Amino acid sequence: MKIMSINAGSSSLKFSLFDMTNEEVLASGLFERIGIEGSCYTIKYNGEKLKQEIELPDHSVAVSILLEKLVELGIIASLEEIDGVGHRVVSGGDLYKESVLINDKVIQDLIDLKDYAPLHNPAHVLGINAFKEVLPNTPMIAVFDTAFHQTMDEVSYLYPVPYSWYQDYKVRKYGAHGTSHRYIASTIEKELGRKDLRIISCHLGNGGSITAIKDGKSVDTSMGFTPLAGIMMGTRSGDIDASIIPFIMEKEGKNASEVIDDLNKKSGFLGLSQLSSDSRDIEKGVLEGNKNCILAEQKYIRTVVNYIANYYVLLGGCDVLVFTAGIGENSSSTRLKIVEKLACLGFDLDVEANQVRGELRKISSKNSKSLIYVVPTDEELMIARDTLEIINR
Ligand code: AMP
Repeated sequence: MKIMSINAGSSSLKFSLFDMTNEEVLASGLFERIGIEGSCYTIKYNGEKLKQEIELPDHSVAVSILLEKLVELGIIASLEEIDGVGHRVVSGGDLYKESVLINDKVIQDLIDLKDYAPLHNPAHVLGINAFKEVLPNTPMIAVFDTAFHQTMDEVSYLYPVPYSWYQDYKVRKYGAHGTSHRYIASTIEKELGRKDLRIISCHLGNGGSITAIKDGKSVDTSMGFTPLAGIMMGTRSGDIDASIIPFIMEKEGKNASEVIDDLNKKSGFLGLSQLSSDSRDIEKGVLEGNKNCILAEQKYIRTVVNYIANYYVLLGGCDVLVFTAGIGENSSSTRLKIVEKLACLGFDLDVEANQVRGELRKISSKNSKSLIYVVPTDEELMIARDTLEIINR
């Protein structure tokens, strides 16, 4: 069975094609600047990389070229070999608690949910429609970033604001990165051979979120109504006092969406360091004694540790603490600095085992009360697994 995983953005389309007999990636790549001048695509396959500049006026053209190239490069013999296409969808609101087969109603729901993911959901619909045109008879599945967090109870997902905001407008915590946190939970369950686990999953990338998982279910998560909430991130502030927004609007003559833009794009590592949103630049700055970088890193560690401690209490302890995504998988020094702050809860790293990048490994010491793991996340594979499972149903 061959399954395609798709992540369609407003001007991009990322894909991975899996052979699900062994979950091997046959090809992967990115179509960029769709509908913008200077568009191009990259396809990686068989140790080779094909990059080409080509006009991509819309998503349909990008999908047609992608499928044409897969055949031309001999990656598949014909389009009939693609058994299903799984689409990443940022917001399923509170309508979708798991992945679903896409039909006209699902597409309409994604359009109706656009207020909850204005940049993403409309783009996903473009991707879905483009595939529908070229592969009308191939089953397509929607896999939602929010679905995993639908198991949170209302104490976790409600904000202490007028209840009518929830009743009238569904203002609540939805969370994000659900596909990644679900992949982490299933990988750890497989690794340890049991499901009755209290897991704190730290997805630390440019965007970041931390999730408390009990018996395979999300109990609470750090992102909120949107991905702006929670821990400090590359360019996002994470949690702040909402009163700052009207204050800055008045001081700088900005409207609300401009201030929200500052909180999404000019805050976090970038805001505090005044240098970069990339944690590698911050780490370098710290080594060079740059005060702003030291401050940015300390604040980052503080917000991450606060959430871990919060979820430790919520779960009544922690069996496994997991680090994943760009920073979590690669930065041994960030992991060390986080775990050092958690010593009072009995977390302890094996400093040698912690010298690992991008591979599944236990990094806790023998003395640690909780296990600590690095697990490379794989949202594309999770999407492909869901797609296969639904097709087989
Ligand atoms: P992601 O959003 O998961 O792609 O993660 C992006 C973040 O991971 C950026 O802040 C990168 O600086 C960070 N990252 C990626 N590779 C490394 C690395 N080798 N060491 C430290 N941080 C890294």
